[in-house]
Amino acid sequence: MRAPMLRWYRRARRDMPWRRRVSPYRTWVSEIMLQQTTVAAVTPKYSAFLRRFPDIRSLAVSSEDEVLRHWAGLGYYCRARNLRRAAQVVMAEHGGKFPSDFYSVLALPGVGRYTAGAILSIAFGKPYPVVDGNVIRVFSRLFGLKGRAKDPAFAKKIWARAEKIMPRRAPGDWNQALMELGATVCTPDSPSCGVCPVAKDCVAFKKGLQDRLPLPEKRREATPVRWVCLWIVRNGKVLIWRRSKEERLLKDLWGLPEAKQIVAVPGRRFASVKHTITHHDLSVELREAALENAARLPKDAKWVPVERARNYLVSSLWLKLISRRQQSESAGISS
Ligand code: SF4
Repeated sequence: MRAPMLRWYRRARRDMPWRRRVSPYRTWVSEIMLQQTTVAAVTPKYSAFLRRFPDIRSLAVSSEDEVLRHWAGLGYYCRARNLRRAAQVVMAEHGGKFPSDFYSVLALPGVGRYTAGAILSIAFGKPYPVVDGNVIRVFSRLFGLKGRAKDPAFAKKIWARAEKIMPRRAPGDWNQALMELGATVCTPDSPSCGVCPVAKDCVAFKKGLQDRLPLPEKRREATPVRWVCLWIVRNGKVLIWRRSKEERLLKDLWGLPEAKQIVAVPGRRFASVKHTITHHDLSVELREAALENAARLPKDAKWVPVERARNYLVSSLWLKLISRRQQSESAGISS
Protein backbone atom coordinates (compact mmCIF):
# COMPACT_ATOMS: atom_id res chain seq x y z
CA MET A 1 0.00 0.00 0.00
CA ARG A 2 3.00 2.34 0.18
CA ALA A 3 3.11 3.21 -3.51
CA PRO A 4 -0.59 4.16 -3.84
CA MET A 5 -0.39 6.12 -0.58
CA LEU A 6 2.62 8.13 -1.75
CA ARG A 7 1.12 8.72 -5.19
CA TRP A 8 -2.11 9.92 -3.61
CA TYR A 9 -0.28 12.19 -1.16
CA ARG A 10 1.83 13.84 -3.83
CA ARG A 11 -1.29 14.54 -5.89
CA ALA A 12 -3.79 15.46 -3.16
CA ARG A 13 -1.83 17.07 -0.35
CA ARG A 14 -3.04 20.44 0.83
CA ASP A 15 -0.86 23.44 0.25
CA MET A 16 0.56 24.64 3.58
CA PRO A 17 3.29 27.23 4.17
CA TRP A 18 5.55 24.77 6.01
CA ARG A 19 5.34 22.35 3.09
CA ARG A 20 6.48 24.89 0.50
CA ARG A 21 10.00 25.12 1.84
CA VAL A 22 11.30 22.52 4.27
CA SER A 23 14.01 22.99 6.88
CA PRO A 24 14.43 21.53 10.38
CA TYR A 25 13.56 24.89 11.94
CA ARG A 26 10.44 25.43 9.83
CA THR A 27 9.23 21.86 10.37
CA TRP A 28 9.89 22.07 14.10
CA VAL A 29 7.95 25.35 14.51
CA SER A 30 5.03 24.03 12.46
CA GLU A 31 4.86 20.75 14.36
CA ILE A 32 4.88 22.49 17.74
CA MET A 33 2.15 24.87 16.57
CA LEU A 34 0.07 22.02 15.18
CA GLN A 35 0.04 20.15 18.51
CA GLN A 36 -3.54 20.65 19.74
CA THR A 37 -4.26 23.44 17.24
CA THR A 38 -5.98 23.21 13.86
CA VAL A 39 -4.28 23.82 10.50
CA ALA A 40 -6.69 26.72 9.84
CA ALA A 41 -5.68 28.46 13.08
CA VAL A 42 -1.97 27.77 12.64
CA THR A 43 -1.55 28.85 9.00
CA PRO A 44 -1.68 32.67 9.43
CA LYS A 45 0.16 32.57 12.75
CA TYR A 46 2.94 30.43 11.33
CA SER A 47 3.84 32.88 8.56
CA ALA A 48 3.80 35.87 10.93
CA PHE A 49 5.92 33.96 13.48
CA LEU A 50 8.48 33.05 10.82
CA ARG A 51 8.66 36.65 9.66
CA ARG A 52 9.48 37.79 13.20
CA PHE A 53 11.68 34.80 14.11
CA PRO A 54 13.17 33.64 10.81
CA ASP A 55 15.75 31.32 12.39
CA ILE A 56 16.84 29.61 15.58
CA ARG A 57 19.13 32.45 16.61
CA SER A 58 16.43 35.15 16.41
CA LEU A 59 14.14 32.98 18.54
CA ALA A 60 16.83 32.20 21.10
CA VAL A 61 17.72 35.86 21.74
CA SER A 62 14.13 37.12 21.95
CA SER A 63 12.34 37.89 25.21
CA GLU A 64 9.73 35.44 26.48
CA ASP A 65 7.04 38.12 26.38
CA GLU A 66 7.71 38.78 22.73
CA VAL A 67 7.49 35.10 21.79
CA LEU A 68 4.24 34.80 23.75
CA ARG A 69 2.90 37.83 21.90
CA HIS A 70 3.53 36.16 18.57
CA TRP A 71 1.90 33.01 19.90
CA ALA A 72 -1.27 34.89 20.89
CA GLY A 73 -4.43 33.01 19.97
CA LEU A 74 -2.79 29.60 19.57
CA GLY A 75 -3.29 28.59 23.23
CA TYR A 76 -1.20 26.15 25.28
CA TYR A 77 1.41 28.83 25.89
CA CYS A 78 3.92 26.46 27.47
CA ARG A 79 4.62 25.38 23.87
CA ALA A 80 5.90 28.88 23.05
CA ARG A 81 8.08 28.97 26.15
CA ASN A 82 9.52 25.56 25.34
CA LEU A 83 10.17 26.59 21.75
CA ARG A 84 12.27 29.53 22.91
CA ARG A 85 14.08 27.45 25.54
CA ALA A 86 14.79 24.76 22.96
CA ALA A 87 16.21 27.39 20.57
CA GLN A 88 18.56 28.46 23.37
CA VAL A 89 19.61 24.82 23.90
CA VAL A 90 20.31 24.44 20.16
CA MET A 91 22.46 27.60 20.28
CA ALA A 92 24.33 26.55 23.42
CA GLU A 93 24.75 22.83 22.84
CA HIS A 94 24.62 22.34 19.07
CA GLY A 95 26.32 25.48 17.81
CA GLY A 96 23.05 26.86 16.43
CA LYS A 97 22.54 23.87 14.12
CA PHE A 98 19.40 21.83 14.64
CA PRO A 99 20.47 18.33 15.78
CA SER A 100 19.75 15.41 13.49
CA ASP A 101 19.97 12.44 15.84
CA PHE A 102 16.87 11.15 17.55
CA TYR A 103 17.93 11.44 21.18
CA SER A 104 19.31 14.96 20.83
CA VAL A 105 16.05 16.09 19.23
CA LEU A 106 14.01 14.28 21.88
CA ALA A 107 16.02 16.03 24.63
CA LEU A 108 14.86 19.48 23.48
CA PRO A 109 12.20 21.12 25.68
CA GLY A 110 8.69 20.50 24.35
CA VAL A 111 9.72 17.74 21.95
CA GLY A 112 8.22 14.28 22.39
CA ARG A 113 8.44 11.15 20.35
CA TYR A 114 5.89 12.35 17.82
CA THR A 115 7.57 15.71 17.15
CA ALA A 116 11.04 14.17 17.01
CA GLY A 117 9.78 11.63 14.45
CA ALA A 118 8.12 14.37 12.38
CA ILE A 119 11.24 16.57 12.26
CA LEU A 120 13.62 13.72 11.54
CA SER A 121 11.50 12.15 8.82
CA ILE A 122 10.31 15.33 7.08
CA ALA A 123 13.38 17.54 7.37
CA PHE A 124 16.18 14.94 7.51
CA GLY A 125 14.63 12.02 5.58
CA LYS A 126 15.19 9.58 8.45
CA PRO A 127 12.80 6.63 8.92
CA TYR A 128 11.18 7.50 12.25
CA PRO A 129 7.41 7.05 12.49
CA VAL A 130 4.86 9.51 13.81
CA VAL A 131 1.66 8.56 15.57
CA ASP A 132 -1.04 11.12 16.32
CA GLY A 133 -4.82 10.89 16.56
CA ASN A 134 -5.16 10.76 12.78
CA VAL A 135 -2.62 7.96 12.38
CA ILE A 136 -4.22 5.95 15.20
CA ARG A 137 -7.60 6.18 13.47
CA VAL A 138 -6.19 5.22 10.06
CA PHE A 139 -4.24 2.25 11.46
CA SER A 140 -7.11 1.09 13.62
CA ARG A 141 -9.37 0.91 10.55
CA LEU A 142 -6.78 -0.21 8.03
CA PHE A 143 -5.60 -3.16 10.11
CA GLY A 144 -8.85 -3.77 12.02
CA LEU A 145 -7.28 -3.00 15.42
CA LYS A 146 -9.71 -2.48 18.30
CA GLY A 147 -8.94 0.08 20.98
CA ARG A 148 -9.56 3.63 22.18
CA ALA A 149 -7.35 6.28 20.60
CA LYS A 150 -6.53 7.83 23.98
CA ASP A 151 -5.65 4.53 25.64
CA PRO A 152 -1.84 4.50 26.07
CA ALA A 153 -1.69 0.71 25.62
CA PHE A 154 -3.49 1.02 22.29
CA ALA A 155 -1.25 3.89 21.19
CA LYS A 156 1.77 1.73 22.03
CA LYS A 157 0.43 -1.00 19.78
CA ILE A 158 0.00 1.51 16.94
CA TRP A 159 3.56 2.86 17.43
CA ALA A 160 4.87 -0.69 17.10
CA ARG A 161 2.87 -1.18 13.90
CA ALA A 162 4.02 2.17 12.52
CA GLU A 163 7.64 1.24 13.13
CA LYS A 164 7.20 -2.11 11.49
CA ILE A 165 5.82 -0.77 8.21
CA MET A 166 7.96 2.38 8.08
CA PRO A 167 9.47 2.66 4.57
CA ARG A 168 13.16 3.54 4.19
CA ARG A 169 12.44 5.68 1.15
CA ALA A 170 10.56 8.97 1.46
CA PRO A 171 9.74 8.49 5.17
CA GLY A 172 8.67 12.14 5.51
CA ASP A 173 6.13 11.83 2.70
CA TRP A 174 4.92 8.53 4.12
CA ASN A 175 4.31 10.03 7.56
CA GLN A 176 2.63 13.08 6.09
CA ALA A 177 0.52 10.88 3.80
CA LEU A 178 -0.83 8.96 6.81
CA MET A 179 -1.66 12.14 8.69
CA GLU A 180 -3.16 13.75 5.60
CA LEU A 181 -5.29 10.69 4.93
CA GLY A 182 -6.61 10.81 8.49
CA ALA A 183 -7.31 14.54 8.28
CA THR A 184 -9.00 14.63 4.87
CA VAL A 185 -10.24 11.15 3.86
CA CYS A 186 -10.33 8.75 6.81
CA THR A 187 -12.15 11.30 8.97
CA PRO A 188 -13.75 10.39 12.32
CA ASP A 189 -17.42 10.52 11.33
CA SER A 190 -17.77 9.80 7.64
CA PRO A 191 -14.63 8.46 5.97
CA SER A 192 -14.56 8.85 2.18
CA CYS A 193 -13.60 5.26 1.45
CA GLY A 194 -14.56 5.70 -2.22
CA VAL A 195 -11.55 7.92 -2.84
CA CYS A 196 -9.18 6.25 -0.37
CA PRO A 197 -5.93 5.00 -1.96
CA VAL A 198 -5.70 2.03 0.42
CA ALA A 199 -9.35 0.93 0.44
CA LYS A 200 -8.56 -2.42 -1.14
CA ASP A 201 -6.27 -3.30 1.77
CA CYS A 202 -8.50 -1.87 4.51
CA VAL A 203 -10.01 -4.31 7.00
CA ALA A 204 -12.67 -1.83 8.22
CA PHE A 205 -13.75 -1.11 4.64
CA LYS A 206 -14.01 -4.79 3.75
CA LYS A 207 -15.99 -5.60 6.91
CA GLY A 208 -18.03 -2.38 7.11
CA LEU A 209 -16.50 -1.45 10.48
CA GLN A 210 -15.53 2.15 9.67
CA ASP A 211 -17.93 3.67 12.21
CA ARG A 212 -16.90 1.24 14.94
CA LEU A 213 -13.13 1.69 14.77
CA PRO A 214 -11.39 2.98 16.74
CA LEU A 215 -13.65 2.38 19.76
CA PRO A 216 -15.41 5.52 21.05
CA GLU A 217 -13.73 7.48 23.84
CA LYS A 218 -15.16 7.63 27.32
CA ARG A 219 -16.50 11.15 27.73
CA ARG A 220 -14.81 13.40 30.23
CA GLU A 221 -16.99 16.05 31.81
CA ALA A 222 -15.67 19.62 31.64
CA THR A 223 -15.16 21.41 34.97
CA PRO A 224 -17.16 24.63 35.27
CA VAL A 225 -15.16 27.68 36.40
CA ARG A 226 -16.44 31.19 37.22
CA TRP A 227 -14.26 34.27 37.27
CA VAL A 228 -15.03 37.92 37.85
CA CYS A 229 -12.26 40.02 36.33
CA LEU A 230 -11.64 43.70 36.80
CA TRP A 231 -10.87 46.49 34.36
CA ILE A 232 -9.06 49.04 36.48
CA VAL A 233 -7.87 52.12 34.62
CA ARG A 234 -5.80 55.01 35.93
CA ASN A 235 -4.37 57.83 33.80
CA GLY A 236 -5.07 55.96 30.57
CA LYS A 237 -3.36 52.79 31.84
CA VAL A 238 -4.99 49.50 32.72
CA LEU A 239 -3.85 47.22 35.52
CA ILE A 240 -2.65 43.76 34.51
CA TRP A 241 -0.61 41.17 36.31
CA ARG A 242 1.23 38.01 35.74
CA ARG A 243 -0.75 35.04 36.97
CA SER A 244 1.18 32.81 39.31
CA LYS A 245 2.83 29.55 38.23
CA GLU A 246 0.49 27.72 40.61
CA GLU A 247 -2.72 28.80 38.86
CA ARG A 248 -4.78 26.01 37.36
CA LEU A 249 -5.39 27.91 34.12
CA LEU A 250 -3.37 30.46 32.10
CA LYS A 251 -0.53 30.11 34.59
CA ASP A 252 2.49 32.41 34.34
CA LEU A 253 0.76 34.61 31.74
CA TRP A 254 -0.32 38.23 31.93
CA GLY A 255 -4.02 38.60 32.73
CA LEU A 256 -6.60 40.97 34.12
CA PRO A 257 -6.86 40.79 37.91
CA GLU A 258 -9.62 38.67 39.37
CA ALA A 259 -11.94 40.28 41.90
CA LYS A 260 -10.79 37.84 44.56
CA GLN A 261 -7.17 38.90 44.12
CA ILE A 262 -7.39 42.60 44.78
CA VAL A 263 -9.11 45.12 47.04
CA ALA A 264 -11.21 47.16 44.63
CA VAL A 265 -14.68 48.61 44.34
CA PRO A 266 -16.47 46.82 41.52
CA GLY A 267 -18.58 48.94 39.17
CA ARG A 268 -20.66 48.27 36.10
CA ARG A 269 -20.44 45.06 34.13
CA PHE A 270 -18.86 45.46 30.70
CA ALA A 271 -19.10 41.97 29.32
CA SER A 272 -19.40 38.30 30.04
CA VAL A 273 -18.00 35.54 27.89
CA LYS A 274 -17.86 31.79 27.78
CA HIS A 275 -14.52 30.22 27.00
CA THR A 276 -13.10 26.70 27.07
CA ILE A 277 -9.58 25.78 28.14
CA THR A 278 -8.61 22.10 28.34
CA HIS A 279 -11.62 20.48 30.01
CA HIS A 280 -12.64 23.66 31.81
CA ASP A 281 -15.74 25.64 30.85
CA LEU A 282 -15.13 29.21 31.95
CA SER A 283 -17.82 31.85 32.50
CA VAL A 284 -15.99 35.12 32.85
CA GLU A 285 -17.48 38.46 33.74
CA LEU A 286 -15.60 41.71 33.22
CA ARG A 287 -16.38 44.59 35.56
CA GLU A 288 -15.11 48.11 35.72
CA ALA A 289 -13.50 48.76 39.11
CA ALA A 290 -11.60 51.36 41.08
CA LEU A 291 -8.73 50.57 43.40
CA GLU A 292 -9.22 51.18 47.10
CA ASN A 293 -6.88 54.00 48.09
CA ALA A 294 -4.92 51.81 50.45
CA ALA A 295 -4.81 48.82 48.13
CA ARG A 296 -1.33 47.42 47.76
CA LEU A 297 -0.36 45.97 44.42
CA PRO A 298 1.62 42.77 44.22
CA LYS A 299 5.10 43.10 42.71
CA ASP A 300 4.14 41.36 39.47
CA ALA A 301 1.35 43.86 38.69
CA LYS A 302 1.84 46.43 35.98
CA TRP A 303 0.07 49.45 34.52
CA VAL A 304 0.09 49.42 30.72
CA PRO A 305 -1.45 51.90 28.27
CA VAL A 306 -4.96 50.70 27.41
CA GLU A 307 -4.17 50.59 23.68
CA ARG A 308 -1.17 48.33 24.38
CA ALA A 309 -2.98 45.88 26.67
CA ARG A 310 -3.40 43.41 23.81
CA ASN A 311 0.38 43.11 23.57
CA TYR A 312 0.43 41.50 27.00
CA LEU A 313 -2.92 39.75 27.27
CA VAL A 314 -2.22 37.04 24.75
CA SER A 315 -4.88 34.46 25.61
CA SER A 316 -7.91 34.70 23.36
CA LEU A 317 -10.02 34.86 26.54
CA TRP A 318 -8.67 38.34 27.28
CA LEU A 319 -8.94 39.41 23.66
CA LYS A 320 -12.61 38.39 23.65
CA LEU A 321 -13.24 40.32 26.85
CA ILE A 322 -11.44 43.42 25.59
CA SER A 323 -13.37 43.51 22.34
CA ARG A 324 -16.70 42.97 24.18
CA ARG A 325 -15.75 45.84 26.46
CA GLN A 326 -15.04 48.06 23.46
CA GLN A 327 -18.35 47.10 21.89
CA SER A 328 -20.23 47.86 25.08
CA GLU A 329 -18.37 51.18 25.42
CA SER A 330 -19.21 52.26 21.90
CA ALA A 331 -22.86 51.18 22.31
CA GLY A 332 -22.98 53.07 25.64
CA ILE A 333 -24.39 50.03 27.38
CA SER A 334 -24.08 49.57 31.10
CA SER A 335 -25.72 47.20 33.46
S1 SF4 B 1 -10.89 2.62 3.26
FE1 SF4 B 1 -12.07 4.01 4.51
S2 SF4 B 1 -11.80 3.30 6.59
FE2 SF4 B 1 -10.21 2.35 5.36
S3 SF4 B 1 -8.44 3.69 5.57
FE3 SF4 B 1 -9.55 4.33 3.74
S4 SF4 B 1 -10.95 5.95 4.42
FE4 SF4 B 1 -10.24 4.85 6.22
